[in-house]
Amino acid sequence: MILPLLKGLALTLRRFLNPKTCATELYPEERPKLSTRFRGLPELQIGKDGREKCVACGLCAKVCPSQCISIEGAEDETHRRYPKTYELDAFRCIFCGFCEEACPVRAIILRDTFELATYEKKDVFDKEKLLDLTRKRNLPR
Ligand code: SF4
Ligand code: SF4
Repeated sequence: MILPLLKGLALTLRRFLNPKTCATELYPEERPKLSTRFRGLPELQIGKDGREKCVACGLCAKVCPSQCISIEGAEDETHRRYPKTYELDAFRCIFCGFCEEACPVRAIILRDTFELATYEKKDVFDKEKLLDLTRKRNLPR
């Protein structure tokens, strides 16, 4: 009966003397190491031409179980389809990844954005905000 108690005290003492072995994450000072399978906020991807990859097919909105994506498609002068508006309500997103799976051109990917706290409930992620997340990453296209 006393042995588990001593083991616990020894562990506490070890961690106290060497805090680096402590498993506590120092967030927000240090960003946590996320799993490679982590699914954060869906982000719109940018193609080699610097424009959004999305072709406004609407599959992501159709498959979304939370119905939090709304798209208005349009065509440019070269008859290329693009999303005139693309909105994602992050308050309703359940980070399931169905939109990423359904997208035929890999235009939407769930990466590691998880810091979504905001003071304004009306802060819906529009097309530019979703593209900005990708722009900031500066990924090869
Ligand atoms: S991750 Fe799931 S809930 Fe969120 S936008 Fe995509 S399909 Fe909808
Ligand atoms: S499925 Fe992909 S290409 Fe189609 S509307 Fe959604 S993000 Fe755009």
